[in-house]
Amino acid sequence: MKQAFDLTGKVAVVTGGSRGIGKGIAIGLAEAGANIVLVQRSNDTSTQEEIKALGVRCEIIHCDLINLEDVKQVIPNAIETMGSVDILVNNAGIQRRSPAVDFSEQDWDDVLTVNLKAVWILCQQAGRHMVKRKSGKIINIASLISFQGGILVPAYAAAKGAVGQLTKALANEWASQGVNVNAIVPGYIATEMNTALIEDPVRSRQILERIPAGRWGNPDDFKGPAVFLASDASNYIHGHLLVVDGGWLGR
Ligand code: NDP
Repeated sequence: MKQAFDLTGKVAVVTGGSRGIGKGIAIGLAEAGANIVLVQRSNDTSTQEEIKALGVRCEIIHCDLINLEDVKQVIPNAIETMGSVDILVNNAGIQRRSPAVDFSEQDWDDVLTVNLKAVWILCQQAGRHMVKRKSGKIINIASLISFQGGILVPAYAAAKGAVGQLTKALANEWASQGVNVNAIVPGYIATEMNTALIEDPVRSRQILERIPAGRWGNPDDFKGPAVFLASDASNYIHGHLLVVDGGWLGR
């Protein structure tokens, strides 16, 4: 069974691995043996260094995912650099909070571009490569806000709802082609994205009280689910939204 989870020699492209959930996932995939391509906009090399210390290859492709022409170069560059792309994790995402009546068009466009259109482009580009090879794993990072409306996050809710549907649409097309498309749905995870919630004593307490596991999630909680969905262990799983939320949704 250990072999089913082994990613030795696979190439995984992970967006937004500089910190948070993406960093946890990139390190988890590397711990399972995968070589990693980090897609990031910053020059920070701390994740790359941690991954290289595990004895696998790790390259950085610099890309600000708001620039869609640059996004289109990511998968071709990764294939040229690494020889192939076996796993794509669309993790990078942004949040903008504001009452809907005040929500700016710029914030709407930014969130829909990074959280949805860049995801679509990367899925399409990786899918073309994977369908041709009859093999590949795509993992999109959705959200509880793929199922719920959230509060003060209309653009994020629209984008993450769409990421859930895109995951199912692509799975329907590519399941018969040897390509698995699934999503991970994080619950409330203590990362920079949630600084506003964590620093709000009322919201922070309300959220914690509703989590059956009794704690916020952390980036390491995503290593196992990501390795599972990236590996042969999940070969018959298609279009699934795997909720990793300490039990929040079932409460
Ligand atoms: P963080 O804010 O901690 O990290 C976001 C990551 O995305 C960073 O690596 C950031 O890079 C990268 N990123 C953001 N914008 C861009 C861009 N334009 N181009 C390239 N990279 C970019 O967020 P989380 O780790 O919390 O979130 C990761 C994913 O999980 C997101 O898709 C988020 O929506 C989702 N999620 C998170 C939840 C949570 O509770 N935290 C709950 C549900 C879903 P940089 O360092 O350059 O800013």
